[in-house]
Amino acid sequence: MSEDCIFCKIIRGDFNTKFIYENDYVVVFEDINPKAPVHLLVVPKVHVESLNELEDKTLMAELLQAVKDVTKKIGLKSYRVLINTGEEAGQEVPHLHLHITGRTAKGL
Ligand code: 5GP
Ligand code: ZN
Repeated sequence: MSEDCIFCKIIRGDFNTKFIYENDYVVVFEDINPKAPVHLLVVPKVHVESLNELEDKTLMAELLQAVKDVTKKIGLKSYRVLINTGEEAGQEVPHLHLHITGRTAKGL
């Protein structure tokens, strides 16, 4: 948990963000500025700055498992997964997150 981190605050429930999916490891919520009809963020509950700082291999696996679980839950069969890592690559929020983008999801 990092005091000034926007995603840590979301995870803490400070903004009453609707979680599309949640388990012990991650939360998933809609991107505030969607770049596709479906645009979700998969965010680990622990504060890890970026993929470069991620060492926990269980968490690595859980992040991808969460992608599979949430896309199945909302009926999104075809999608992209993106991890911006570092400022040069466009990472704006220094708390690791996976973008899921897609066209239509029946269950969203
Ligand atoms: P990055 O550029 O770091 O890979 O992606 C950060 C993403 O987080 C951006 O797509 C941005 O729209 C989203 N974002 C930033 N602040 C918030 C917020 O307070 N709530 C939500 N739901 N998304 C946010
Ligand atoms: Zn954080």
